[in-house]
Order: sequence, then structure tokens, then C-alpha cells
Amino acid sequence: MNRSHEEIGNFFYRGRIRAEEYADAARYSTFRAGGVLEWAVFPQNAGQAIEILKFAEEEGIPVRIIGRGSNLLFSDRLHPGIFLITRLMRGILIRDGQAELSAGESLPHAIASLAAKGLSVAEELSGIPASAGGAAAMNCGAYGKEISDVFCSASVYLPKNKNISTYTYEDMKFGYRQSVLQSGGVCLLSVTLLTKASDPEKIRRRILEFSEKRRAAQPQAPSLGSFFKRPPGDYAARLIDECGLKGCSVGGAAVSEKHAGFLINRGGASAQDLISLAETVRERVYRSTGVLLEPEAEIVL
Ligand SMILES: Cc1cc2nc3c(=O)[nH]c(=O)nc-3n(C[C@H](O)[C@H](O)[C@H](O)COP(=O)(O)OP(=O)(O)OC[C@H]3O[C@@H](n4cnc5c(N)ncnc54)[C@H](O)[C@@H]3O)c2cc1C
Repeated sequence: MNRSHEEIGNFFYRGRIRAEEYADAARYSTFRAGGVLEWAVFPQNAGQAIEILKFAEEEGIPVRIIGRGSNLLFSDRLHPGIFLITRLMRGILIRDGQAELSAGESLPHAIASLAAKGLSVAEELSGIPASAGGAAAMNCGAYGKEISDVFCSASVYLPKNKNISTYTYEDMKFGYRQSVLQSGGVCLLSVTLLTKASDPEKIRRRILEFSEKRRAAQPQAPSLGSFFKRPPGDYAARLIDECGLKGCSVGGAAVSEKHAGFLINRGGASAQDLISLAETVRERVYRSTGVLLEPEAEIVL
């Protein structure tokens, strides 16, 4: 990185891009813990996002994209580089039975807005606190539905080639909580989903039904959702519960009493508390069941 902080700050100011120097990472993770991000930047549209990515590529500054931070935690240290936070990139465009969501659009908000217009799209996912970009990157899923089930295409920017491209279903290489976007180097600008015309009241009832199920089963405390992936043929929560780990804690991080798959921040947890708790859970589950749990949540060390 050859540019001074002053010069980098000037670049953002000239482009009227909101930027925060040495930002508290806890504000950008739903676990509400973590260290410091050198530059947190908030593009308001795809054009600004591309400007930032071009600049970073030319200057050799590392970039990481953050949606709603509902699957991300940054360790308790200074993280150098630019953290492109998409939450101001909002918007929903409806045409030909499809809805194009800007990268930072909130998934629950989009599902509810489309419902009000009589368009049904994956109500099962309406309680996932994701951005559209993060939902596609993680291929998030719930109650038997995944975002890939309603995926049409995505507009992406590739900083290395300096071009915008359209990714098809095949390009996305979707798997269980997986997509090509997780390997980095690609920024999703918008994602287009398939909608179905339906009665708004019927869709609204489905949304309520799924949020009720969620409320009954999941804790309210800050978390990253289910911390571990589902192991083949079983459930992480069931194994953790069987090992008597509900309530097990390290500092402010604890295994939820309500849902053993959730590692929660019960107040004042550091990122290290969560990392240590996750490791303890993995070890105890492995020793007693032989199953090695794989994290679904992403921890940037
Ligand atoms: C209370 C709670 C409940 C949850 N329930 C579920 C559930 O039922 N099912 C489920 O699957 N998940 C669930 N999650 C986890 C999480 O919400 C999902 O993984 C979600 O898809 C993450 O979206 P995000 O916008 O927060 O992404 P982030 O956490 O910000 O990022 C996740 C990954 O996507 C990448 N990314 C984000 N945006 C872009 C972009 N525009 N371009 C390229 N890469 C990008 C990031 O770099 C990162 O690698 C839950 C989380 C919480 C806190």
C-alpha cells in the first residue's frame, strides 16, 4: 500500500463516498464483537462500489466485502485494508416476473415488499437477516428452501479484469451454504430472483408463519445464526445438545439454552471468546461422537 491515509481519505471524499477510518468492527457483525477495520466504506450504488474496487486494485490495497455481517466476525485486532460495506446499496427493480435486488438490499425487506405487490419469493427465507449479496454468496437457506432455488442471474464486478459480467446459475457454483463468491475477487452488484404472482394476503400469512417458527426456536441475543454447518445426516444443534453443552460459556460467549446451534453474545463477549467457545464445542462433540463440526460462520483472523 503506497498511498498515505490522507490520500486514501481524499479519494473517498472526492468521490463523495462515505468512509470511516479505524471503524469498530463490532458495529458491522451481528455478533457485536471484533477488532478494528482500517477503512469501512459505504458505497451508495454500483458505480461507487466499482470506483472503490478499481482504486483498491490499482493501489494494491486488500478489499473485503461485508453485507449485513450476519455470518461474519473479525478477530480482536486491527484489520488492514478497505472493507466495502454494501448496506447503502439498496433498491428493488421488478420486470418480467423477476426482481433485481441491489447488493445491499435487505432480504427480509425485499421479500415483504414483493409480497405487498402480490409477488411471492422464498418466504421461507424471510427471517434471515441477510443482504441480497450475502444471501447469494452464502446460498442461505431455511425450511427446505435455498436462495439458489429462486436465483436467475447476478451482475458482478471482477476487479482483476476491470469488467462487469453476468453470472448464471452454473457460474455461481452453488452448494450447501456455498457459492463461487466465497473465494473472493468478485463483487456481486445485484441479484435477480424469480417471483411468482400470488395473493398478497396469502404471502403475508406465509411470512408470519415462518417468522413465528423462528421466534419460537431461536434466541434473540446477538449471534451469527447457526454457527456450524449441518453434518451429513444429522444436526449440529442435536449433537451439541447431546454432549450437554447448552449454556457452556467462555467469557461473554455462550451456547444458547434455547437452540444449541447458536453461539450467542450474552453481553461483553470478545471475538476471542467466541473463537475459544467454538473450538471447545468442536473438540467436545468430536471426542464424544466422532463428528467434526465445520463452521458455517466466517471468522476473519
Ligand atoms: C439470527 C440469525 C439467523 C440466521 N438464520 C439463517 C438461516 O436460517 N439460514 C442461513 O443460511 N443463514 C442464516 N443466518 C446466517 C446469515 O444470515 C447468512 O449466512 C446470510 O446469507 C449472510 O448475509 P450477510 O449479508 O449478512 O453476509 P455477510 O455476513 O456480510 O457476508 C457473508 C459472506 O458473503 C460475502 N459477501 C457479502 N456480500 C457480498 C457481495 N455483494 N459480493 C460478494 N461477496 C459478498 C462476504 O464477503 C462473506 O464472505 C442467520 C444469521 C443470524 C444472525
